[in-house]
Order: sequence, then C-alpha cells, then structure tokens
Amino acid sequence: MKKREELAEKYKWDISAYCKSNNECLLELSSIQKQMQKIKEYEGNLTQENAIFESLVLCSDINRKLDRLIQFSYFKVSEDGNNSEQKELQEKAMSIAYEFASLSSFQAVEISALSTEFLTNLMKNTKFTQFSNYFREIIRNKAHILSKKEEELLIQMEQIAENFALTYKMMTDIDFVFEPVTDSTGKKYELTYGNYGIYIKSLDRTLRKNTAINMKKPFEKYNNTLVSNYIGAVKSDCIVSKIRKFTSSLDCVLFNEEISRNVFDNLIIAVNNNLGIFHRYFEAKRLKLKLRKMATYDINALINYKFDAKVSYDNAIQLIKKVVEPIGEEYVSLIQKAYDERWVDVYENKGKERGGYETGAYGIHPVVLMNYKDNFDSVFTLIHELGHAMHSYYSNKNQCYEKADYSIFLAEIASTVNEILMILYFIDNSNSCEEKLFYYDQFFHNFYASVNRQTMFVEFENKMHRIYEKTQVLSKDIINEEYLELNKKYFGKDVELLPLSKFEWSAIPHFYRAFYVYKYATGFISALLIAKKLYNKEESAKEKYLKFLSAGSSLPPLEILKLAGVNLEDPRTFQEVFDFADTILNNWK
Ligand SMILES: [Zn+2]
Repeated sequence: MKKREELAEKYKWDISAYCKSNNECLLELSSIQKQMQKIKEYEGNLTQENAIFESLVLCSDINRKLDRLIQFSYFKVSEDGNNSEQKELQEKAMSIAYEFASLSSFQAVEISALSTEFLTNLMKNTKFTQFSNYFREIIRNKAHILSKKEEELLIQMEQIAENFALTYKMMTDIDFVFEPVTDSTGKKYELTYGNYGIYIKSLDRTLRKNTAINMKKPFEKYNNTLVSNYIGAVKSDCIVSKIRKFTSSLDCVLFNEEISRNVFDNLIIAVNNNLGIFHRYFEAKRLKLKLRKMATYDINALINYKFDAKVSYDNAIQLIKKVVEPIGEEYVSLIQKAYDERWVDVYENKGKERGGYETGAYGIHPVVLMNYKDNFDSVFTLIHELGHAMHSYYSNKNQCYEKADYSIFLAEIASTVNEILMILYFIDNSNSCEEKLFYYDQFFHNFYASVNRQTMFVEFENKMHRIYEKTQVLSKDIINEEYLELNKKYFGKDVELLPLSKFEWSAIPHFYRAFYVYKYATGFISALLIAKKLYNKEESAKEKYLKFLSAGSSLPPLEILKLAGVNLEDPRTFQEVFDFADTILNNWK
C-alpha cells in the first residue's frame, strides 16, 4: 500500500481552511483556553437578559472555534492513525473542549431554572433569534427535568446502565469465535464480521447457508447470557423513562427526537399492510436464482450478473454530475466544486482510517474521507457521502451556527436520495436486460433492508418494551419466540427460516440503543419520495428539496421534511412509497 506522500495532491483533501498547521492549531487552542476563563464571570449571574445573551454568544464563539480545531486534528489522525504527534494534538483539542463543557455547564442549569414565561419571551425576542432553538429545547424539556439531587443520581445510574451495551460489545466483538465456513467445493474460509457481508451475497448457496448458520451459532450457545443482558437493557430503558415521567420508553425516545407517535404507528401499519410486496420480491428473486424454495440466507445473494466495470474517481465525478442533474444546475456545479477544491480524500494510504465519512465545521466547506477502489461500490459510497456533504453545505450557508446541524432523524435522507437517483439512472440507462435486473434487485434489496427489516426490528423492540412495561416480566422464551413469530410474518410462508433464526435478535447491536432503527425506515421512505419527485421532474420538486437541504435544524424535523413535500404524519405518504415500489416490481421481468 502507498504511503501518503506518494499519492498525487489532486486526490488528497485540502483542509487548509480548517487550520494551516499543527503549530497554528496549538496557538489557537491556547488563546481559546484564555478566552474560556471569561465564562466564569457569568456563573451565578444568569438572570438578566444581557448577561444571558453575552454568555451565550461567548459560548457559541468558543464552541465554533473548537469544532473547527477538533476537526482539523481529527482529519490529521484519519490521514495516518500511526502518527503519535497528531494523536496528541487531537487529545489536547478534545480535552480543552471537555474542560470548556464543564466550565460552562452552569449555564444550562441556571437558564433552565428560569420561569417558562421568561424563557418564552427570550425565545420570541429578535435579539435572541439565533438561540431560539436553545430556549425551545429547555422549555420543551422542563416537564422531564427532575430536581438537582435527582438529576445527579440519575446521571450516575445511567452510567451503570451503559454497561449492558458494553458487555454485549465485549462478548460479541471480542469473545465470540466463529467456525470457518465451507463452500460447495469443500473449500474453507475464515468467518469474521468483516467477510460475513461478502459470503452472504455469494452465488454459492452452500457458502451462504453455512455462513448464516455459523454466524448464528455462538448466539445460540450463549443465549441465556444474551437474554439476561438484553433484559437488563430493556429494564433500564423502561425505568429511566418512567423516572423522567414519560408514559413509555418509546414515548421518551420520540420526545427527544421531536417525532410524533403517529409517524411511528404509520410506519408499522403501512409496512404490515404491504408485506405482500416484499413477499413478491422474494418470489421474483427465487425464480431468478432458480431455487426450489427460498431461504432467509438467499435474500442477500447477488443475482447472476458479473458487474466488474472499472470506474476511476475522475469518471465517477462526471457520472455523479449526470445523476444529480434532476436536483438542478447549482447542485451539479457544487459536485464540480467539491472536485476542484479537493473536498474529498480519495484513495487509501498506509495508516489511513478505513471506510468513509463526511463531516465538517461551520463556515468551511465539508470534507469526505473515502477509500476509493475504482469500482461501482465506491461510486455508490462517493455519491452517498457527497449527499451528506451537500446537505451540510446548504445548511451551513443558509443557517446560523446554532441552527446549522441537521437532526439525526434527517441525517441519512440527502445521502439516500442520491443513491436512489443513481439506481434510477442506471435502470434507465442499462445496456441489457441483465443489467437492468441487477439494478432492480439492488433497488429492492435496499428497500427491503431499510424498510422491511428495520420495521421488523422496531416492532420487536416495541413488543419487548411494552411487555416489560405491562408485566415487569421478560424471559428467554418470550424473547426468542416473539422474534421467531415476527420473522414468520415478515418473510412470509414461502421463505424458509433456519432453526437458529430465533436467536438472530441477539446479533443486532442496535437493540442496545432502543428505537434507533426506525429512522432507517422513515429515512429511506422520505428519500424515496423525494428522489421519485425529482426524477419525474415534478413541479417545484427541485426548489422544495433545496429548501429542505438548506433548513439545518431551524424547525422541528417533521416540519423540515414537509418543506420537501413529505408529510410522515399522513398515512397516505407511506402508501405512495409502496405504490411506487409496486410499479418497479411490476417491471421486473
Ligand atoms: Zn450516511
């Protein structure tokens, strides 16, 4: 593998706008450390409008600078994780940020103690416009904040509760050993989490089956421990939300994300009403794979189409510009800008962070880290990450610092819109039926993985939490059997389940962050609707989408989605998605 110095400058990101050098970063950090001390002057004095305003402005200014420097130091570590000087710089920047968080922690406590009436006036005061979200959040949370003493106790208890996720991680990431898998010729392969994704897509059915079985075996063997640990996590979710005066753990999560309950209910009802579409997809895939009966381990198989065309980074950018044309000229030119100004760190080098990400800081262009491989998988990763980058770019450009970050509920929409536009583009521009079918399958597989599967997961989580909240009892049999029943329902009667399927719930790490995954489903559904409107050149679709991209967190997330023409509170929105999927499936021949 090449060393970083050996790569062409053209394919390395330009992060000079974040900071010029380590030295400059250190100088800036020490000047921030001095500036930070000023915040102490406000401690105990946050009752008057002026003092509140000044202290908020000071915090914003410092946090904004810290964000930028932390990112700079993080980028340098991403470039080469073996460089200890960069790691020290990152640690220094982080520790200053922690120090400032603790120095300024009185601010939220003192402001939260002010009356709702006073806070509402501040929120409406034009002088405080940039901080209106800050006050809105404090007012919204008032009913769920406890006394100072209780808060202290609860925070300590929550630290203990974190151990369920940690134990799970230790056990499944480190202690678990998977038996090697064999393919149809008897050849053996080592099985890890990393190559699971490759073998389960293989055209060799024996390999797929053995992969699915061997991956689940340790989860069966340690079922008792995994059950007990998961019950602990569910109990903790339920107890904490009860202490915080929520009617249920689900309502607690939805409240924090500012998502109304009917969005969650609409999702579950719509997916349940439309399971038939997924069952038809499984059947279409069975025919294509020429199987007598479809099994769960066949769902991920790539259909028989060798797709190994080479795509250089330069060509990928040109291709992406064509794909995003439905979003408008400006968006296309921003892709070129990202290329010209080197927002992307393209190729891998020795010591570089694996995978890909997009991030940035306010007032500066975003950046994307890739390990680009000259293939179509990489083109999909690139267009995905550039989707995040454009969302950040538009929100930063149009919102103040305090309202520029988009919420986690919206975070995967812009990236998924781009991916879907790319699949629709490939479907329309395929050179053969085989190629077209490959992309139909890719579309449907993504739809299944994001919508069907994640909804099954949240239905499971919801059941487990509700059973505990109602009866205070959960057991091995309830958990395993309920999961199996859901699998039967979601896969339908024509897909064969493995006897080990009932243990699969314990292989999902996300269950240690309750009710997280429904956002994958609502995100995909929203992105699909937006992409469909853009692709079909529906009137004002472009303008609406740009408003969505530009909104940051200036409004509650569901309101921002409405700017793009997507209303998740309306059940018809969900039906529109399934109707669209249905038309795509009808073309599958
Ligand atoms: Zn993403």
